[in-house]
Amino acid sequence: MNQRLTRFSNWLKDQEHSFAFLTTTANVFYLSKFHTDPHERLVGLAAFPDEEPFIICPSMEVPQVQRLDWKYEIIGYSDTDNPWDKVKEALKKRNICAGTIAIEKAHMNVERSEELQRILPGSTFTSAETKLNELRLIKEENEIHVLREAAKLADFGVEVGVQALEEGKTEMEVLATIEFELKKKGIRQMSFSTMVLTGENTADPHGNPGMQTIKNGDLVLFDLGVVLDGYCSDITRTVAFGEPNEHQKHIYDTVLKAQLAALDACKPGTPIRLIDRTAREIIETEGYGQYFTHRIGHGLGIDVHEYPSMNAINETPLRKGMAFTVEPGIYLPGVGGVRIEDDLLITANGVESMTKFPKELQIIKR
Ligand code: MN
Ligand code: MN
Repeated sequence: MNQRLTRFSNWLKDQEHSFAFLTTTANVFYLSKFHTDPHERLVGLAAFPDEEPFIICPSMEVPQVQRLDWKYEIIGYSDTDNPWDKVKEALKKRNICAGTIAIEKAHMNVERSEELQRILPGSTFTSAETKLNELRLIKEENEIHVLREAAKLADFGVEVGVQALEEGKTEMEVLATIEFELKKKGIRQMSFSTMVLTGENTADPHGNPGMQTIKNGDLVLFDLGVVLDGYCSDITRTVAFGEPNEHQKHIYDTVLKAQLAALDACKPGTPIRLIDRTAREIIETEGYGQYFTHRIGHGLGIDVHEYPSMNAINETPLRKGMAFTVEPGIYLPGVGGVRIEDDLLITANGVESMTKFPKELQIIKR
């Protein structure tokens, strides 16, 4: 078995769980390299303490799994089969009886958990996520390589966006240019809906781009990332279109100071909450504390938001190989907002910024 599956199976054995049944794209990919979005159809990876694992997926996706380095059973089912009966058979073949089943509690839905109860009556559920999150927390060398490449493409996306800015263009037009250029580089999927926000819209941390046009004196915020070989990037830059006013400059300088100070604090051993604290203190001192409305960042990897959660109460110390974002922001309703976000990697004695687009305020004059 590959190292990841072996570690996971050993955990199942230590915990005396019957088996694990995983259905999220991320965890199936992590353990098998099979990356798929099956929509409502079932894709599952079953792992066992002692038996060989199997993957169940729609028949039409079986060839995809066969092309991977997956040496174990692949069970295909058609749109008229009940896949759960096939799962039942596969479990029976392995002499698996009722017991504790490790599932992804945050994702498994009621219908699926009832099917599992039906095929193994009397079973109880436990969380597989605790272990998988722990395994995924420290990135391996090959994962780091892909994360760096994904970050480079995020930098490129911002560069294209800044180049495309023009008075009177809509947010959506700039957004389309960014994604068009990335698609030409082979990127099929963004890691989330690309954000290009201008003027007052920048005050909404999760704003929706639309037909708002870019005007002289606007702040323009880009938040975007790509999925490359199953791994995500996530960058935010805010630029000034035309000469910024003193207020805009002050907000920008404050966020930048907070972001740089937080980055300085990132090294092995620092509790995560201190990274949030460092940035928040600077923003509070300048009087904008109530306008920094989210945590400092999030882990980054196969999921664009994964562990560790970079929040104000997380005592977990940073460790070499952790990948995450640091993204302080100030959002003034009716005025505008600034956020600066980088993708970071903890190294042996410090931190590496995988995203590298310049952070001093870019003033775009056309
Ligand atoms: Mn972002
Ligand atoms: Mn982010």
